[in-house]
Amino acid sequence: MSEKMQFSQIPNRSGLRTGLIASGLILSGIFIWIMDGKSMQPVNGQTTSRSGALKPSAIDGGRAYQYLKDICAIGPRPAGSAANQRQRQMVSEHFRKNGLTVKDQPFTGVDPASREQKEMVNLIGSWKPERTRRILLSAHYDTRPFPDQESDPAKRRGRFIGANDGASGVALLMEIANHLPKMENEWGIDLVLFDGEELVYGDNGDYFLGSRHFARQYLADKKERKWNYEAALVLDMVADKDLLITQEQYSLEYAPKIVREIWDAAEKMGERRFRKRVGPAVLDDHIPLNQAGIPTADIIDFDYPAWHTMDDLPERCSGESMAAVGRVVTAWLELGPPPKRR
Ligand SMILES: [Zn+2]
Repeated sequence: MSEKMQFSQIPNRSGLRTGLIASGLILSGIFIWIMDGKSMQPVNGQTTSRSGALKPSAIDGGRAYQYLKDICAIGPRPAGSAANQRQRQMVSEHFRKNGLTVKDQPFTGVDPASREQKEMVNLIGSWKPERTRRILLSAHYDTRPFPDQESDPAKRRGRFIGANDGASGVALLMEIANHLPKMENEWGIDLVLFDGEELVYGDNGDYFLGSRHFARQYLADKKERKWNYEAALVLDMVADKDLLITQEQYSLEYAPKIVREIWDAAEKMGERRFRKRVGPAVLDDHIPLNQAGIPTADIIDFDYPAWHTMDDLPERCSGESMAAVGRVVTAWLELGPPPKRR
């Protein structure tokens, strides 16, 4: 991120709501930075170049929720663990069954607690790999090692399942994969699972290992590649029962056109769980992608009391919330590629 930006540690969730600004420190998991909000405006519609009737896919919330439960049933899934690998195999099979070409993108990271090297893998499922107009839909699939946001210190070494923070984005990508064969748009679509988003203990560790690796590879492959991604989304924490998705600040800064298209689609569909309002600034996997030149919006509801606690469980999540996001995302995909500028 650029040096002009100052990051804040939000002491607690009410701090987030009241826009308290502290500086310098990293909270955990996803970091937040509350911008001098006055300078930032939500982006609001009617300039979307592509119009016409929206065609959301018939996303099945019950099925998406079952995927979320299946993923959580594997247990905690931190980067480099056998459980993480099992999840990856499950998703690979599912992607293949739906006609995607699946590739592993391995890399090595270091566990900051044990100092051991960990083999990590981003999973890339490509829909129509021959197409040169491409979109990237992504989610992280590792879970934080411990629920270190628990108020009771004794629980901070407890079991962290990451139903919303981890499983929800993956489950929604799995459900979207079911609909790709029926879509009519001409995008090539890559569904990417990032590893190592949060192999972090308290404030010990580096975030976004997987998306950083992916971004580095993307830049390194620039010469051979015949195309660049035209847009990307990160789906993170999309299953809260009480879902409300505002416009994340880095997305507004880096990818305003995508934010406008997504929120316009939601508005046209009468989807009130998307709100045209400036939300918090969240450090997430969209930062490395944007910095590599891929315009990326983070679709996230950061207002989730169970965040990084033992309570981030399937019972806090809703298939209907995931379906709402899935319908908006697929309606946006179905707009198809805009005409190429000469
Ligand atoms: Zn997290």
